[in-house]
Amino acid sequence: MSGRGRRPTAAYIDRDGTLMRDTGYVARSAEVELLPRAADAVRLLNDEGVPVVIVTNQSGIGRGYFDESAFHAVQARLVQLLELEGARIEATYFCPHAPEDGCDCRKPGLALYRKAALELGLQSSGGLFAGDRVQDVLPALELGGTGILVAGTDGTYDGPVPARVIRATDLWTGVSGLLLGAGNSP
Ligand SMILES: [Mg+2]
Ligand SMILES: [Zn+2]
Repeated sequence: MSGRGRRPTAAYIDRDGTLMRDTGYVARSAEVELLPRAADAVRLLNDEGVPVVIVTNQSGIGRGYFDESAFHAVQARLVQLLELEGARIEATYFCPHAPEDGCDCRKPGLALYRKAALELGLQSSGGLFAGDRVQDVLPALELGGTGILVAGTDGTYDGPVPARVIRATDLWTGVSGLLLGAGNSP
């Protein structure tokens, strides 16, 4: 479990339903909407010196719902909205495949995390893995890190929740609880 004030080596954060509202295969930059306090969570990680990396499954590309340029447009808008609130993303890694493609980069596969760690020079263990799906936190168990499962907008959690994974109503609550200790939210 988390210890108060323990600083992760990096934060690997899911995008849809964790940083921005998941309206289902978001493909237009005009649809991008930050979730409440998501930017605060990223900024806190920035302030603590924790590199923030987005790791996202984008099967909408593999399913033919939108192309990679649409993904990049949405991504650019998200990064812009975060930056307007003083929150910085180090890098983004995405899986463009459909589940039936059988790739090794689709979460909970580890390929994107390993690639990020290698390219960004991050320690592979001791990371923070946050998202609204179990697939987002499973890598924490495999790589030796901390998982934070955030609730959906309806307040329910994806499951089954693995032991040792922290549940939090949203990203801010989970990240601030981990870094600042519970009940210490500025
Ligand atoms: Mg998600
Ligand atoms: Zn993939």
